[in-house]
Amino acid sequence: MSPDSSPTRASLAEYTTTARLIDTAGVLGFFGACGFHLWRLASLGPDALDFVTLAALLAGYLAADVFSGLVHWFFDTWLSATTPILGSMFVRPFREHHVDELAITRHDFVETNGSNCLGSLPLLLMALALDPASGGLAEGAVVFIVVLCLGIFATNQFHSWAHLTEPPAWIRLVQRSGLALRPEHHAVHHRAPHVGHYCITTGWMNAPLDGIGFFRGLERAITAATGVPPRLEDGAIG
Ligand SMILES: [Zn+2]
Ligand SMILES: [Zn+2]
Repeated sequence: MSPDSSPTRASLAEYTTTARLIDTAGVLGFFGACGFHLWRLASLGPDALDFVTLAALLAGYLAADVFSGLVHWFFDTWLSATTPILGSMFVRPFREHHVDELAITRHDFVETNGSNCLGSLPLLLMALALDPASGGLAEGAVVFIVVLCLGIFATNQFHSWAHLTEPPAWIRLVQRSGLALRPEHHAVHHRAPHVGHYCITTGWMNAPLDGIGFFRGLERAITAATGVPPRLEDGAIG
């Protein structure tokens, strides 16, 4: 979910061989697990494509967008770049992205997507315990989880595409379809003080979440519980 969330990338200038190997394993594991789930679902045949399946598909994609917003908001708002482990893994990359928007576009496929693949893999493996052939809720749950994980996987890629200065025509087409984050939509988040439009998979959930003051409400609840105000470090990094 991070714009650049490998632990090594934030703290070191180079992308180490070890980080690349871990990311590569994550990508391979993710596609292996996803492929297996999709094969199980496809083998159910077209009759399985009912209302529950379609609802689970839409819910999974929406949930991925909400999840992207929650993670992005959390690391933009709380903790510090000096927080052990999480600081260098997530806080600094997210906040540095406000300063250097184009860094994310210089990463290749594995570097862009490795961490999100690794993060979703446990959920995909746990979903192996569900048998979609039993129909009903199990089938819907597998569809939801697979689409959610595919959406989480796509988030960094879509976010990176939104920062391309000259995206290929086919990427513009996907963005215009609304299935991927549109650059004009995401640009709103990049205007200081960066306190809205946190969702970066499709951005579909930004209007409803910003409209009801979802993140400000969460911030008030966290401040009430912990006494810590949001964005303590604003201005410290960028
Ligand atoms: Zn941000
Ligand atoms: Zn961005």
